[in-house]
Amino acid sequence: MIKVYSHSLGCPKNLVDTENILAGLGDAFSFAADPEGAHVVLINTCAFIRPAVEESLETIFSVAQALKDLSQKPLLVVTGCLVSRYGPGLARQIPEADLFVPISEQDKLPGRILQKLGLVLPDQSGVPRKGPFSSFAYLKISEGCNNRCAFCTIPFIRGRLKSRPLDELVLEARHLTDLGVRELVLVSQDSTAYGRDLGNRRGLAALAGELCRVQGLERLRVMYLYPSGLDRSLLAQLSEIGPPFVPYFDVPLQHAHPDILKQMGRPFQQDPEQVLGRIREYFPGAAVRTTLITGYPGEKEKHFQALLDFVRRARVQHLGVFPFYPEEGTRAASFEGQVPGDIQDKRRRLVMQEQRKNSREHLKGFSGKMMDILVDAPHPEWPGLYTGRVWFQAPEVDGITYISGPGVAPGKTVRAEITRSLDYDLEALA
Ligand code: SF4
Repeated sequence: MIKVYSHSLGCPKNLVDTENILAGLGDAFSFAADPEGAHVVLINTCAFIRPAVEESLETIFSVAQALKDLSQKPLLVVTGCLVSRYGPGLARQIPEADLFVPISEQDKLPGRILQKLGLVLPDQSGVPRKGPFSSFAYLKISEGCNNRCAFCTIPFIRGRLKSRPLDELVLEARHLTDLGVRELVLVSQDSTAYGRDLGNRRGLAALAGELCRVQGLERLRVMYLYPSGLDRSLLAQLSEIGPPFVPYFDVPLQHAHPDILKQMGRPFQQDPEQVLGRIREYFPGAAVRTTLITGYPGEKEKHFQALLDFVRRARVQHLGVFPFYPEEGTRAASFEGQVPGDIQDKRRRLVMQEQRKNSREHLKGFSGKMMDILVDAPHPEWPGLYTGRVWFQAPEVDGITYISGPGVAPGKTVRAEITRSLDYDLEALA
């Protein structure tokens, strides 16, 4: 049995890649609790922005340090965005690692690991097998992106859009629900583009429709919807699907002022409020999540005030906000009008203050209501208490619902009364 210690950095898409690499090792592996006790140490890196690059390098160096005095060193494998972005030069800088594998070659990685260990590749069923699973799972529907946002490195790192075939995704969804997964979260770089490269214009709606027919699935959630791709035609198609499709729309808007959106290379002719209006027209009770950037080059006080007004008016349920980072190799890094870090941070804090009010007001409305809660896990410190989520809480990025009471167990959906609302979280009693 090969003992593997894996460390996945960055986004859920990376986590899916890590799971697929492990699944490719078949039944030949088990999980190691620490790098020192493993035969293989797998580090799946992120390199989306400079701090992510630094975190990836620190992780590799600290693992290499921990392994350096062992008489039997495990195979140290580095894969992911860092390798795709910086290429073969990494091998010279990090001689401690045994294998560097870019994203484009990850499908061959299980074979290369087994080869390095002197083992043969096990028979593959064609369906990725998963390691540990939970109430929810991410399903990566495509790789890469055909958009060219001025601040983003992803198209260089992950390449152009490459959608996974619909049949393969349905098969994987069936496999996951057989394992007990109740919520599937579709992830990609731009989910509205799913299927375009396969010549399927109804791509995302057709996929969501098929997945919603999978036995045992209780929630289907789609993340990363590009604003202009979420047009009337797609919304109309999605509105016909019904449960378990969740009316939750994760639309990264990045800014609300047309001057800044234009500089970003994002859709700027349409007011972001129009995008939200469209969603709410087709899904009156929709929950919306968005992300914003503060301190983008050229963002003056008037642009920021427009952004803040938008946050006040739009009252989205969930919002993430990040200060702009001039990422090496992007057009935005060399734009004039770079905004000092302290102003970026202050603007970020002001947006979050507004959002805290929005979230608190939104959650208040649920106190005393009976809601279905998908239970994820026992609370790490309080016996009898569990964490779960109502339909408008996406895993790992939104708030959670604390729940206790008879019949509460991971993987189960429990009808419970919301007893208290906090700024971002809920409490419930079954
Ligand atoms: S849509 Fe997203 S992944 Fe694609 S270029 Fe823009 S920010 Fe990057």
